[in-house]
Amino acid sequence: CGIVGIVGKSHAEQIIINGLQRLEYRGYDSAGLFVSDEKQEHLVKSQGRIKNLQEKLTNEVNGTIGIGHTRWATHGKPSEENAHPHTSQNGQLVLVHNGVIENFAELANDYLAEENFYGQTDTEIVVNLIASFMNEGLSTKAAFQKALSVIHGSYAFALVNKEEPETIYVAKNKSPLLIGLGEGFNVIASDALAVLDQTHEFVEIADNELVTVTADGIVIEDQKGEIIQRDAYQAQLDA
Ligand code: GLU
Repeated sequence: CGIVGIVGKSHAEQIIINGLQRLEYRGYDSAGLFVSDEKQEHLVKSQGRIKNLQEKLTNEVNGTIGIGHTRWATHGKPSEENAHPHTSQNGQLVLVHNGVIENFAELANDYLAEENFYGQTDTEIVVNLIASFMNEGLSTKAAFQKALSVIHGSYAFALVNKEEPETIYVAKNKSPLLIGLGEGFNVIASDALAVLDQTHEFVEIADNELVTVTADGIVIEDQKGEIIQRDAYQAQLDA
């Protein structure tokens, strides 16, 4: 139901928790986050309030890149295993998702018939779909793009490959997602409100674009891989 992510700043987990708390108004039944850096990675999920998630964050849980999520269950009961982020079976990819994938059962059938899943969400199918396209030799970005081309539904996605702990890949269709620009870091959020303590400068993402977000900048591409230039705007202080 809400997404917050950041790359290029220490204590990403704090920024994500604060942001998720500001997205509480959107409603949720569980929450989770993934943070990492060159040396460590942590995935923490919890059913119920964001406070429950916060209480699970021991001092070891920190990183310079991270994605977090509040879930409003559409497929699969509210539970810790169904909370996001979701991890591919090879352990390499982590994904958060808002929205509904309408053809997830067909996708599972067509591409992932051999696989068993730990939960019941449409999102877990998508992260394994991207991993299966990477198995064919595609890069993270190309595999994500290919998955987007076969997915039908509404989504805001933020994807991290644990082997590239400096990049967040994002895309949206009919669900909100924005990029926030910082000095030496960048953020993503469902609502500018979640990250106004980090920046007031935002870049919109249009449906069916793929954005590569690193600490130094963002690259927006359309479905054909053409790079799109888009100016930032200043969010109102009282937004
Ligand atoms: N369809 C996904 C799920 O049920 C995402 C729901 C949401 O937008 O929070 O896990």
